[in-house]
Amino acid sequence: MWRGRPRSGPPRASRRSLAAAPFGYEADHLTVCEDEAAIYRQVVVRFLAGESVRSLTVWLNETQVPTVTGGTWHTSTVRNILKSPRYAGLITHRGQVVGPGVWEAIISENDHRRLLSRFELAKTSGRRAPQRYLLSALLKCGKCGNGLYSSVRHDTRRGTVSRRYVCMAGPDHGGCGKLTVVADPLERLIADAVLFRLDTPELADHLAGRSNADERIKELAQVVERAQAQLDELSLAYGNGEIIMREWQLARQAPESRLARAQRQIAAASGNSALSGLVGSGSELAKAWSGLNLSRQVAIVRALVEHVVIAPVTRRSREFDPSRVSVVWRN
Ligand SMILES: [Zn+2]
Repeated sequence: MWRGRPRSGPPRASRRSLAAAPFGYEADHLTVCEDEAAIYRQVVVRFLAGESVRSLTVWLNETQVPTVTGGTWHTSTVRNILKSPRYAGLITHRGQVVGPGVWEAIISENDHRRLLSRFELAKTSGRRAPQRYLLSALLKCGKCGNGLYSSVRHDTRRGTVSRRYVCMAGPDHGGCGKLTVVADPLERLIADAVLFRLDTPELADHLAGRSNADERIKELAQVVERAQAQLDELSLAYGNGEIIMREWQLARQAPESRLARAQRQIAAASGNSALSGLVGSGSELAKAWSGLNLSRQVAIVRALVEHVVIAPVTRRSREFDPSRVSVVWRN
């Protein structure tokens, strides 16, 4: 609930150490502080565009925007200001909006509703934000072992935006804060490695090895192999005009269902249903990769990758250095 102080309150420079006015407002809690309001609006726009609270927190700290207490931004602070009805000029009482406040609004009521519904959506879909990074939660810092976080760097001088993964220090994250890797080339490298691995005999062996006790896996792998060979032959026959479309379709049904069943059983046996239907399909997926939606790409990568360790930079270069990357495959 809003507690106002007279406009003749302490000057702005010192209000930080006193009862802090909300971010975006002068010490009187009523007047909009234009500099902070502009930052607030930018945070809102970027959040509504799908950027994560975490990434926005990194950005606020990197651009050295002070918090109302002068400390660093935490994800909880950013989440709170994004959810607060006060920025739409609304007054709340015991958590309920009870009417318009007497202060100036920084965003519209509609934007406030959109903010709330995005948080709501994130809650029901079980994720904090729409996934925008292929390798979220899969990367580890080679210096301190902490997880890396996705982050967007806005270079205002050059007018460029680059996606990165960073090790974050501070109470929210606990990393060393000293490691950064550019997202695009890393994501391409990992995707290529994953798609390549899907087609390797090692993966099939590896899958079989997961349930060594069960000889059945090996049999199933043979069923998959035979069914795939049969399907290939049929395609070839159709391509050569030896059979007509109808025959091809009919002949495909049996090996296709055998294949699907065996793949499901292999996946279940290896305890990883995400792999179902993926094994052996790397080259097809590679062709379709850029057209797949991100959640599908993420599912494929996670089916195979346990985590990826990013080593610190060893040579001074602007180029991405693939030797920094070590993939730990699931087993
Ligand atoms: Zn670190």
